Amino acid sequence: MGPRALAHLRYLEIMSTPVSPPELDLRRALRLFGRALRLRCPNCGGGSLFLSPLRQRPDCPTCGLQLDRGESDYFLGAYLFNLVAVELLFAVALVGTMLLTWPNTPWTLLKYGAAALMVLGAVVCHPFALTCWLAFDVMLRPVDPAELPQPLSEPVARVRR
Ligand SMILES: [Zn+2]
Repeated sequence: MGPRALAHLRYLEIMSTPVSPPELDLRRALRLFGRALRLRCPNCGGGSLFLSPLRQRPDCPTCGLQLDRGESDYFLGAYLFNLVAVELLFAVALVGTMLLTWPNTPWTLLKYGAAALMVLGAVVCHPFALTCWLAFDVMLRPVDPAELPQPLSEPVARVRR
């Protein structure tokens, strides 16, 4: 058998081996989003990621992961998540109110209530959108150990003499 045939057999072997990349692991995705919905670091599950309800820390206090992952305009993904969450909230409120009160739907209350709900929802959903976007990013682009701060090579106690 020649080298070309061996290469072809190797190719067939590789192509027939099922591949399960970590990006497609459902349990991993559920773990990442479960941590994000508890406002925890999706990477390690630790730490409080917020200095205040609307202000995120620059990095995870437990594992040191940069929460914007070092990219400009990283917040746009979180804005998208927030927008989708608030739109879903609006749709549920609108359809729910219509189903419960039809045919006497309180349109005026719905109009002003929905506006207030959307403003309040954007504020309430903001931290969840940030952590869910980070979870989504970590799901698709697993954390490289180089992204995390490196431990000191020698403990301080050993350096002292
Ligand atoms: Zn962490």
